[in-house]
Amino acid sequence: MILVTVLRPARVFIEERALDYPLGKDLWDRFSAEGPPPVLIGSHNRVGLPGMKGFKAYAEAKRTLVVGVRKTLSFQSCRPSAHYQLPLVTSCPGMCEYCYLMTTLGPRPYIRVYVNLDEILDRALEYVEKRAPQVTIFEGAATSDPLPVEPYTGALARTITVFGRTALARFRFATKDDGVEPLLGLEHNGHTSVRFSLNPRTVIRRHEHRVPDLERRLAAAARTAAAGYTGGFLIAPIILEGDWRAEYGALLDELAAALRAAGAGERTATGVAPPPTFELITHRFTPKAKKTILTIFPGTTLPLDETSRRWKMGQFGYGKYLYRPEDMEEVGAFFEERIAALFPGAEVLYLV
Ligand code: SF4
Repeated sequence: MILVTVLRPARVFIEERALDYPLGKDLWDRFSAEGPPPVLIGSHNRVGLPGMKGFKAYAEAKRTLVVGVRKTLSFQSCRPSAHYQLPLVTSCPGMCEYCYLMTTLGPRPYIRVYVNLDEILDRALEYVEKRAPQVTIFEGAATSDPLPVEPYTGALARTITVFGRTALARFRFATKDDGVEPLLGLEHNGHTSVRFSLNPRTVIRRHEHRVPDLERRLAAAARTAAAGYTGGFLIAPIILEGDWRAEYGALLDELAAALRAAGAGERTATGVAPPPTFELITHRFTPKAKKTILTIFPGTTLPLDETSRRWKMGQFGYGKYLYRPEDMEEVGAFFEERIAALFPGAEVLYLV
C-alpha cells in the first residue's frame, strides 16, 4: 500500500484577494465543504495564533494553511544549486529539529501557498527569456517542501508541465515527502529533477517529526526514477555522531538497492533517468536557529555545542557554526568513495 502524506490543516486562512483567482475560489469552496471552515484575512503576511507559545505555537503553525497571492515577483538568486528560487510554497508541515527555516521563518512557520501560479510561472519564463540562449535553473524548495501541499494546489505538476515544454527552463525541487503519484505521468522531458532528502534511521527517529520514514522516501525515489525523472539525493544534515560511517554507509547501500530494484537507468515509457546527483550538507547552525530550536524542542539531542565547531560568516550577513576542516575532509573522502563504488556515473554536486 502506498501511503501519501497530505497536509491535513487544523485551520485555513484565505486572503481576500485570493478569491479573485480560480484556485483561491476552489480552495474556499473545498474547505467550506470539507472543513476546517476557512477564515478570510486581509493579508497572508498577517496571520496570528493568539495565546500560543513555544512548541505549541510552532506545531500549530505547521498545521495552519494560508492561501494567498504572491506579491513579490522578483525572484531571489539561489546559488550554488540553481539560478533562481521559484516561490511556489513557503514552509512545510514537517517538524525537523534542525530545519534551515528556523533561521529564516522563526518560531511560527505557517504554510503559505499562492494562487497566482500563472503570474509566477509567466515571470519565470521572462527570466528564462532574458538569459537565453543559456539554460535557466529554478529551485522550487528553497523555502519549503512543496510536495505535501501539492494535492491542494497542483503547483508542481503545472510547473513541471510548463517547464517540460520550455527548451531553456529547468526545474528542481527537494522533498522528504512521498506523494509523487500526481507527477509520475507528466511530460517532464527531462527538464525536472526530483531530489529526496535522506538520513539514516537513527537521525530520522531522533530529529525528524511528521515526515515520511526512510522506507517511504526510498520507495518514492524509486518510483520517480522509474518514471524517467532526473533523480537526486540530499544527504542532509550529515551528523557526525556515534558510528556515523556505518550508518551513512548502510543508508547508501539501501538506496542503491532500491534504485536497482526499480530498474532506474533503464528505458521506460517516459524516458531514461540519468545517474543520480548527490548534495552533501553537513550539520550547521546559526545562533538564532539554536535559540529557536531550544525554545521549541528543549529536550533536543542535536549536537549544538559551539566549542566543537568552527565559526563562519555567511553570504547573507549572518554567521554559522560548521564542522571543523579535519572533520569535513573525512566526510568528503568517505562519501566520495562510497558513492563512486555504489552509483556508477553519479555526480557529487557539492559538499558543504
Ligand atoms: S521537511 Fe524540510 S522544510 Fe520541512 S521541516 Fe523538515 S527540513 Fe524543514
